[in-house]
Amino acid sequence: MKKKTLKSLRNRLDAVFSVFVRTRGADPQGYNSCVSCGRKMPWQDGDAGHYYRRQHTGTRFDPRNVHFQCKSCNGFRAGNVASYARYMYATYPQSDLDDLDFLHRQSTKLTRSDLEDLIEKYSMAVVHIKTPVLCRS
Ligand SMILES: [Zn+2]
Repeated sequence: MKKKTLKSLRNRLDAVFSVFVRTRGADPQGYNSCVSCGRKMPWQDGDAGHYYRRQHTGTRFDPRNVHFQCKSCNGFRAGNVASYARYMYATYPQSDLDDLDFLHRQSTKLTRSDLEDLIEKYSMAVVHIKTPVLCRS
């Protein structure tokens, strides 16, 4: 069997992690709410929006750093950071926020087995979310 390249593993993890983030907290009909503006929509229509931007490798795949956002907040409004920060402070204890602040300054290189472990972990997490919308895919 051909070994997957690191790049293809990274792409796979990006995809799996994005589905994990967008379905997390969705209602039974598959609707989720943007953490910045509160708009509700089918999870497929939103983005996995990073609090510390995705180029920070130390927090790129940290579930505390990535949440459901509508495309206009994540894209056109460049993350709608003020409201995102409000959500973060309302949701996480200071120790988590300190953690993320520390981690986003670290440069993390994921190895092949790190990537495989994370793919497995987030695939499993998604499998256990049973919504009618998810069953289609
Ligand atoms: Zn929004």
